[in-house]
Amino acid sequence: MLTALWQRLDRNPPLFFDDQLEPALAGARDQVFGMGLLRQGQPSRNAACPDCGYGCRVVWESNERTGARVAFLSCRTCGPIEVEPDRLRQWAIDVPQLLAAVKAAGRISGSVSEVVEGHLWHLGTAVWGRRREVYFLRCAHERVRAPVTSAIKTHPKAVLLFPDEAAAHRWGSATDNPVFALDSVVTLAAEGLAFDAAAVTDLLADAQPSDSAKPCPRRSGRVADIAKLTEAMVAFLRGARDHAFATEGLAGTPELLPRPTKTQLAKETNVPKSRVTRCFKDKSARELRLYWKTAVDLPTVMNFKGPTSTGPE
Ligand SMILES: [Zn+2]
Repeated sequence: MLTALWQRLDRNPPLFFDDQLEPALAGARDQVFGMGLLRQGQPSRNAACPDCGYGCRVVWESNERTGARVAFLSCRTCGPIEVEPDRLRQWAIDVPQLLAAVKAAGRISGSVSEVVEGHLWHLGTAVWGRRREVYFLRCAHERVRAPVTSAIKTHPKAVLLFPDEAAAHRWGSATDNPVFALDSVVTLAAEGLAFDAAAVTDLLADAQPSDSAKPCPRRSGRVADIAKLTEAMVAFLRGARDHAFATEGLAGTPELLPRPTKTQLAKETNVPKSRVTRCFKDKSARELRLYWKTAVDLPTVMNFKGPTSTGPE
């Protein structure tokens, strides 16, 4: 329910247009407002021209008779077009408020400090199996990596929280810290955000053996299994993408192929079902989990371009 919120949190500025709220948050909208996670921002200074779709500057003028403020788009090709002020209304994610809610849900104690402005926050410490420092990182672009890695280098075991799997995936192996996507571990419950601390604790415990330098045979077997499963998901996504475009061409509406079940994946790859489950939980299976998630989202499937990594890490 909060996926759109997490995705937007990883963009700058983290804003929604008024008419994006309903499709993005649907049933969660009132609760998100009730928790104070969104506040009204400045009206947008740009908007797409309703006629040609071109991104235009917004110009405000006062109506001489009524004194009312009127907004115009100055479109290069279509000329000035009046635009409803409601269309320019924007809602900003209240980042400190959202982090406070995540902290409460995850029982992360201590005070929050912003370590790299707008990007890295130290949220405090949590007991997930054992005591861990917890950081939150958003919009971790290339130029942000150096200050972030230098800020956390003294905490190689600290947990890094990212807004979504794509953001966690982009961070990749920039540091060896365990990473989690809020989209995967935080859900919306009746009483507010719910944090799946049990899953995080399990995954952290699973990741322990890989901390040791000694290669262990069970582990390398799992690496091979993950590679097989990832390959199978890539093949599925390619097929699903082609199917979506083909059905769109034929019937006008793209159709999403049903994602294979984990049992079907097990059969297809000859990886036993019990091992498939372990693979999906493995710290290094980030790409596999991302594809798994992607496979039920038609727009992302249609945008699928292939594996994002260039080879084994
Ligand atoms: Zn235009």
